[in-house]
Amino acid sequence: MNAEKTSLIRCGDHSLAPWAITCVHILEGTADDVVAVRQPEGSEVEFDWICPECYEKYLRQDQDGSADVDDLRAVCIHCLRLLLKRYGTPESLDGTG
Ligand SMILES: [Zn+2]
Ligand SMILES: [Zn+2]
Repeated sequence: MNAEKTSLIRCGDHSLAPWAITCVHILEGTADDVVAVRQPEGSEVEFDWICPECYEKYLRQDQDGSADVDDLRAVCIHCLRLLLKRYGTPESLDGTG
C-alpha cells in the first residue's frame, strides 16, 4: 500500500477500494453493451465503463461542456468487475489483471 494519492470509495462488500465510473444501465443490467472509456495517464483506473447510450452523451458533454449525464455512478472496481463479467468484457479493469 504505497499509493498515497489514491482516492478510494467505501464499499459495503469490499471496504475501501478504488473506483471507476459506470452508468446505472450497467448497474441494473439493462445495458446491451459496454464501452471502455480510457482514462488519462495517472488515473486510478485505466478505464471507465459505460453503456453505448451514455457514451454518446459523454462524448457530447466533452463538446458542449453542458450535457447531462445524470446516470453515471462511481462504483468500487471489485463490484464493477463482477458486473462486467455479465457482459463478457475481456479487458482487466485496473491493468493488473
Ligand atoms: Zn447507460
Ligand atoms: Zn465492492
